[in-house]
Amino acid sequence: MTGLSGGCQCGAVRFRAVPSRGKAHICHCRMCQKAVGNLFASLVDADASEVIWTRGTPATFNSSAEVTRGFCSACGTPLFYGYPGGYGLCLGAFDDPAAIPLIHESGMEGRLPQVDQIGHIPNIGTTEEDMADEAPAIAASNRQHPDHDTDHWPPVSG
Ligand SMILES: [Zn+2]
Ligand SMILES: [Zn+2]
Repeated sequence: MTGLSGGCQCGAVRFRAVPSRGKAHICHCRMCQKAVGNLFASLVDADASEVIWTRGTPATFNSSAEVTRGFCSACGTPLFYGYPGGYGLCLGAFDDPAAIPLIHESGMEGRLPQVDQIGHIPNIGTTEEDMADEAPAIAASNRQHPDHDTDHWPPVSG
């Protein structure tokens, strides 16, 4: 399958998907906020037949009768909103989230005021600028899976 690759932070779960519209949306509903532990969920739809799990299997929680929320049981990364026949895959889990533009917002009843602060609050620079003392140690001990498929993970040493 061609398509776009992605996975969780620890690399235990990896996927490849062909988004049905190639474009994503933000959902502000309270259930999405909880499912991703954040201000909103960013999701891109894909038919179930267009998603393959190339490493591991996501864990799921049935947030309602027809809906599952998928995540990595090892590291907790939210991976999808699952519904009959398809998924809304979490945008940040893709190896190249910037490749998938947003097309709309939904769940507007839950939209939080902090969303409007984005772009209007002080910006304190890149991670390297903001955490100059800690950044080298973080980079040296980084256990996050890289943003591309790997034959072995964690890397085989020796
Ligand atoms: Zn993981
Ligand atoms: Zn939602």
